[in-house]
Amino acid sequence: MQNMEILGVRIDSLSMEQCLDQIIQAVLADGDIRIVTANPELIYKAASDRELQQLINSADLIVADGVGVLWAARQLGHRLPERVTGIDLALRILEEANKQGWRVFLLGSKPGVAERAVINQQKKYPNIVFGCHHGYFTAEQQPLLIERIKNFAPDILLVGLGAPKQEYWNAANTGLARVRIGVGGSLDVLAGLVKRAPLFVRNLKLEWLYRLLTQPSRLKRQAILPLYVARVLQAKRRQKHCE
Ligand code: UDP
Repeated sequence: MQNMEILGVRIDSLSMEQCLDQIIQAVLADGDIRIVTANPELIYKAASDRELQQLINSADLIVADGVGVLWAARQLGHRLPERVTGIDLALRILEEANKQGWRVFLLGSKPGVAERAVINQQKKYPNIVFGCHHGYFTAEQQPLLIERIKNFAPDILLVGLGAPKQEYWNAANTGLARVRIGVGGSLDVLAGLVKRAPLFVRNLKLEWLYRLLTQPSRLKRQAILPLYVARVLQAKRRQKHCE
């Protein structure tokens, strides 16, 4: 597998299907892999936080979550096959899980949301065995939660605690599932609480703009995007100087 770096974060050059293949292999081989869906916000944060950067880079797979990552890769001379967003990956995994009868645990979101996600998805995917827990647990509650997930023995653990919290959580909790993935706000979408952008908007690669307009609370977070662009262009200039 080829990979490259954006502002010090490794990005694996994988299509959605290649990523899914690796996930299937990990489940079949009784593996223990950790996947990071890296978006510009996380990459930018990691650029000034060495511990976070190392923690991300030590993941088994790091996929390009969004057009901003594809764009940066192109600036730095690499062509990544496609975006592999947390929600698209989660949806693709659920399809496969239903075919294979996998056990899937949803961890994250506000109380009640993961349950709603299970109810919704169970109708669509009756062969999946689901478990779930909300993402607002205290440090004292954590050991019991971990015990509960261990007893459930998930093939797939979808962790929607927001980045980078979910990255720290997944890195600290090896052995909990065959595949652990940070999926951001995907459980809110699976629960039907947050609507995805219409397909034509996604095809225009403007889902980020749709999210910004429909969830204005994201504005402050997205304010880092120009800074991310500037850092990537700076890295591009440096790269040219070194050539
Ligand atoms: N969240 C959580 N526990 C926390 C903080 C956040 O479960 O302590 C959840 C939050 O409810 C939301 C998700 O993490 O469902 C973060 O979603 P966001 O849209 O910010 O993530 P993104 O997709 O942008 O990474």
